[in-house]
Amino acid sequence: MIKPDYYVETIYDINFSLLHELDINTLLLDIDNTLVPFKTTVADDDIVTWINMAKSHNFKLCLVSNAYPRRAQIISGNLGIPVIYMAKKPFKKGLIDALILLDSNKDQAIMIGDQILTDVMASKLAGIRSILVEPLTKSDFIMTKFYRLIEFFLKKKLEKKEMK
Ligand SMILES: [Mg+2]
Repeated sequence: MIKPDYYVETIYDINFSLLHELDINTLLLDIDNTLVPFKTTVADDDIVTWINMAKSHNFKLCLVSNAYPRRAQIISGNLGIPVIYMAKKPFKKGLIDALILLDSNKDQAIMIGDQILTDVMASKLAGIRSILVEPLTKSDFIMTKFYRLIEFFLKKKLEKKEMK
């Protein structure tokens, strides 16, 4: 069973103080349906505020997304965070590349994403902890729809693990 370390409703439920206590200083962030709805390139104000809060808490940030370069780079520019695009999650390489880019290491990083079969799986393979969030919207890439169906069954056994 592929299990995230934490499972929360939204990124706003992520407890920065707890992450500091766990000696985590690096947040690897999925884009689609974690930070912005699928197909959108504009992050809403709440997300921008959250990102700025994470920066002010001294977290190193990197987007790790399977998205294509153009859109990924626009979002990266808007948020002022570097991006590893076409990361090919569930493979771990994108996450490892992000750690190298940030001069961080796997013990001090956590991956935040909305999909068990890509984000959480890639984290497991990379030996990085993970936080699963609920997807922002139901609309998705066609392949993701297929993943969602499997995830529906995987999640049935998964209780939300709060970070309070
Ligand atoms: Mg996603």
